Amino acid sequence: MKISLFSNIVNVSRAFLKKSIHTTTIEMSKPKLIVFDLDMTMWPFHVDCMVDPPFRKNRDGKIYDNYNKHIKPFPDVPNILEQLHSEGYKLGAASRTTCTDEAKQLVKLLDWEKYFHYKEIYPGCKVAHFKRFHEDSGIAYRDMLFFDDEYRNIADISKLGVTCIYTENGMSFPELTNGFKQFNDNQTKQSSTKRS
Ligand SMILES: [Mg+2]
Repeated sequence: MKISLFSNIVNVSRAFLKKSIHTTTIEMSKPKLIVFDLDMTMWPFHVDCMVDPPFRKNRDGKIYDNYNKHIKPFPDVPNILEQLHSEGYKLGAASRTTCTDEAKQLVKLLDWEKYFHYKEIYPGCKVAHFKRFHEDSGIAYRDMLFFDDEYRNIADISKLGVTCIYTENGMSFPELTNGFKQFNDNQTKQSSTKRS
């Protein structure tokens, strides 16, 4: 008796799991704008103090700073940008660096301008950056997904209703997957709140 009861529970669980995976695949909500911080999120340094601009690109395509330090983004970042761009996502960059021109130069040398529909790069609270994203794109905050390595930015932007992911160790594919999951969970919560 005990065995068959256990067996029924297992079967029900399997059926539920199968259904929930199926549902997730079919109905996953997707962000309309994905925004990335730059320093310590897309590349492993702060432009204003850990490298020495101006940057240059050599004939071999590699980027160096003024002291010949090889400048590279976090390993997954080029493929993340390429994949999201090829899937049609709108992307943005939000940085509060004081080295505005230098950060923009690096974005250009990395050949990322083709990925970013929106760029807000200047010092100050990132709420100002996101207000511009909203005004320029017409996209609601709840339809945005944001990655940043600084908790103060996560705290500020979460209050707007944006899904925010704290990327303590920089951007990577696992962080991206986590972001999409959190975004979907938030959308599901919002729609169930509306229904109740
Ligand atoms: Mg940062």
